[in-house]
Amino acid sequence: MKIGVFALQGAFIEHERALLSLGAEVKEIRLLSDFTEDLDGVILPGGESTVQGKLLREGGFLEPLKERIQAGLPVWGTCAGLILLANRLSNDSNVYLGTLDATVRRNAYGRQLGSFSDELDFKGIGKYSAVFIRAPYVEEAGSGVEVLAECRGKIVAVRQEHMLATAFHPELTDDLRVHSYFLKMIR
Ligand code: GLN
Repeated sequence: MKIGVFALQGAFIEHERALLSLGAEVKEIRLLSDFTEDLDGVILPGGESTVQGKLLREGGFLEPLKERIQAGLPVWGTCAGLILLANRLSNDSNVYLGTLDATVRRNAYGRQLGSFSDELDFKGIGKYSAVFIRAPYVEEAGSGVEVLAECRGKIVAVRQEHMLATAFHPELTDDLRVHSYFLKMIR
């Protein structure tokens, strides 16, 4: 299985390591020419969504990526990646890919909670210790969106068909179960 990891900005190397240790093949996507037809899925890493959105736009990725996701390309967005996938941001006027039917709030846990970790119950995985960094959360999930995990009463992991999105960072821990979940989702 070959997974494309967007390597424009943010925590992409950590995703690559996790995928490699699960036996997946990894391809870094930096240029539009890296976004080839042979990819079985793609990951949008955490980082800064405004910077990544700008780089996706300047790199000519926005339309082709959106089209391929709409055509069924499996995608997982972590943190900033969740923001890029959402079709509405409640505290920001930007919309980037807009393929995920969800309203997302950026930097939603407030400044006091810039970064923290917490125990969650992840549907299909079980007890899971999640790391949040200036994290967004999902304020409203559309009818076709399955809620996979909540933290402090807020939705932090969702799935809509072939799209997975988490507000937290599984790539920054040694726990590979969410990466396995994504690979299983593709199979
Ligand atoms: N706060 C960042 C944003 O709005 C997301 C943080 C992250 O990806 N860790 O883009």
